[in-house]
Amino acid sequence: MGVQVLALDIAGTPFRWLDIERASYYVASGKVAWSLGDYNTLRGGVRRIDGARSRLDVPAVIALAKSESMARHYGPIPLGHDNRLLFRRDRDICAYCGERITDPHQRTRDHVIPRARGGRDVWANVVTAHRSCNMAKGCRTPEEAGKPLLYVPYSPCRFEHFILAGRNIVADQMEYLAARLPSHSRAV
Ligand SMILES: [Zn+2]
Repeated sequence: MGVQVLALDIAGTPFRWLDIERASYYVASGKVAWSLGDYNTLRGGVRRIDGARSRLDVPAVIALAKSESMARHYGPIPLGHDNRLLFRRDRDICAYCGERITDPHQRTRDHVIPRARGGRDVWANVVTAHRSCNMAKGCRTPEEAGKPLLYVPYSPCRFEHFILAGRNIVADQMEYLAARLPSHSRAV
């Protein structure tokens, strides 16, 4: 997985992770309003007329011009089905025994209020748990099971979501996102 560029809207809200080729298109066509961070330099072909090699500097963070209306399309942060974001939010820590779950096969999504009891499949009702801790809790609330939650589940804000979903995040991008997290976040 290669370098990714963090694209923001003009107000500085994360819009999308872009691959470097897509980001270079925005840079080359003048669609970047402002930018932050170190450059990735893309080298292109050699110009026949003077032998110069084309190059394009693509910053780590770019804010897209004419993006004022994009915020209207931002929906709630998806929890997803594959648990990747959930386990990252919870740092692979079991909410019931407090151990870090190193074996991926032991990691499960536990519904704090069980689904059979009307608990919803939403960020604020799910935690990371060992398969065994999840089974032992069964169809009970943490109180009924005598297993109090060791941390509080929460819905990530858009900045945290980009940290959870990003791959190979570079320092300039992490610094930008981390500076805008609420204090309850565990992302950094
Ligand atoms: Zn556990």
